[in-house]
Amino acid sequence: MADFNTHLMGAAAVSGLAATVLVMTGQFSHPAITGYFVLGVIGGLLPDIDSPHSIPVRIAFMALAVIAGFLVVFTFGRRYSLTELILLWIGCFVLIRYGVFALLDHFTVHRGLLHSIPMGACCGLITTAMAYHVFNASVIHAWLCGSFVTLGFLAHLLLDEFYSVNLFGKKLLKKSFGTAFSLGSVKQPLGTMALYLAVIGLFYLCPSPRPFGEVMLSQETYRSVAQRLLPGETWFAGFLRRVTPTRLPIL
Ligand SMILES: [Zn+2]
Repeated sequence: MADFNTHLMGAAAVSGLAATVLVMTGQFSHPAITGYFVLGVIGGLLPDIDSPHSIPVRIAFMALAVIAGFLVVFTFGRRYSLTELILLWIGCFVLIRYGVFALLDHFTVHRGLLHSIPMGACCGLITTAMAYHVFNASVIHAWLCGSFVTLGFLAHLLLDEFYSVNLFGKKLLKKSFGTAFSLGSVKQPLGTMALYLAVIGLFYLCPSPRPFGEVMLSQETYRSVAQRLLPGETWFAGFLRRVTPTRLPIL
């Protein structure tokens, strides 16, 4: 099984590549694309939150609790007094850091249902629904946020799967082969069913994916990417001119 660093690198590589393609289409703003990239990396770390005692998971939970607290505070910033906002932040932090953490710890088995493809879909759909309903994102923006989370999540599962194949030794398959990139768990039929129902339910909470699909599947979107797969006449045309000052600063 791949370790934390490998997952961090893997998720960064996959969502970085996807984000680069989006940059090349020239249709999305840079701050938005940076956000997608970060969401992709977070998605790539999510599947292992079912082993809550590992240090990375503890750090991630701490960060999540702090950030979620601020997101809530920013959302209500105009309405409440500073004291109320601080109380809100503390409440949010405690709820996630201790409440959600304890729940996860209690109810999950590592590499159980949380470590599966439908869970990846769930996380993406939750992100899309939240981006759209809570943060008033546009339909396309919301679906892109969710897609990057799912993308990172699936990259994580695939990486775990590849790591269960021992590439260097003679023994080709390890015991864990086939357990990472799973569609559910036979041992937890009820949980698996609930997970699929959650996917369907969450899908209905999200805005219609049609505008997003149209943009993503349209050839128009990728025209500039296809044209720029390889450089034209010179490599890195004008790059030197851009990174070097045109005029020496007057001293
Ligand atoms: Zn994993």
